[in-house]
Amino acid sequence: MAPEVLMADYTLLFRMVHPEDRAGLITVFQDAISKRQDYDHEFRLTTDTGEQRWLKTTATSVALQNNPDVTHLSGFLFDITENKTRQLQLKQMAYQDPLTQADNRRIFMEKLKNELARVERYGEEAALLMLDIDFFKRVNDTYGHVVGDTVLKHLVAVLYEGLRGVDSLGRLGGEEFAVLLPGTSHEAAVQLAERLRLAVQASPALQAGQTVPFTISLGVASITADVTDVKTALHLADKAMYRAKQTGRNRVCTADEAPPTTLQGSLD
Ligand code: GH3
Ligand code: MG
Ligand code: MG
Repeated sequence: MAPEVLMADYTLLFRMVHPEDRAGLITVFQDAISKRQDYDHEFRLTTDTGEQRWLKTTATSVALQNNPDVTHLSGFLFDITENKTRQLQLKQMAYQDPLTQADNRRIFMEKLKNELARVERYGEEAALLMLDIDFFKRVNDTYGHVVGDTVLKHLVAVLYEGLRGVDSLGRLGGEEFAVLLPGTSHEAAVQLAERLRLAVQASPALQAGQTVPFTISLGVASITADVTDVKTALHLADKAMYRAKQTGRNRVCTADEAPPTTLQGSLD
């Protein structure tokens, strides 16, 4: 933007400010004027080519001699997009699994802990799923580790497709994942688990033109007011998943089912 364009109508700048950052920026300016405050503030701006930039403005309010009123704000406007992008990437790395982009274990545990507290306080319902790829060792052995990684990424994409925005998917380790379903009844959680199982079964991963079919086993645990700690919740879901493995894999089991009377063993 040419300086003279902005000089002619400085409100142009405000109109370029990201809608979510506009009110905050106006407050900063108003405080600078009414309280004679210096400021240091970051906001987003959309350029006329549609590109989003991060700006930082730092300024001081100036009053002319013998005049109690602020007459102008004097300062700098920096483009901090590169720094900000790097900072946001680092932040993401702190809570995302780098391979699959699912939540990492640490952040997932934090979310689970918060959800348990919510259930206990407000008596809401929630559910926890635990899932693990069936015979994943065989996938690695047959197609190689790189294809194994592709399968993991593909699995996460398929799972996210079947989840709502409020649900969380975490990679707990290796090829084991957990799904947190806030506000979900036991029946709804079992139905969702079954839908996810079928979705995974129906969409093999693709790698260099070859399809890699795979399945998952899932355990469902209800989070009720008496499930007060993360360990218990995970243990219930894990027990249910173990049962799904024991009773044939590629299936959904719940935590409250009676132990299986017959063990089918592996599928092969
Ligand atoms: P099960 O049906 O009982 O789960 O059988 P499984 O073969 O999946 O057995 P298990 O869960 O013990 O095997 C986990 C395998 O997953 C072993 C390990 O090599 C592989 N694995 C763990 N993390 C990764 C990863 O990041 N990438 C790849 N490619 N493989 C991984
Ligand atoms: Mg496995
Ligand atoms: Mg495993």
